[in-house]
Amino acid sequence: MAGKKVKCPVCEVIFEVETDMEVGDTISCSDCYAELKIVKLNPLQVEEAVSDFSDDDDEKEDSEDKW
Ligand SMILES: [Zn+2]
Repeated sequence: MAGKKVKCPVCEVIFEVETDMEVGDTISCSDCYAELKIVKLNPLQVEEAVSDFSDDDDEKEDSEDKW
């Protein structure tokens, strides 16, 4: 029936997710469409799943010295 309610850490909207989720599953926020990874089931806790969408911090790959 009704899913579990969870709060999106990105936009802080509360939405329902399916109950048969497992830790490590990813869901999308119904509001901002952020990808959220389930980190805990009881109580249900999610965190933003960071994929290849890197933030502004400098990336190591490019920081090699070039001569
Ligand atoms: Zn959201």
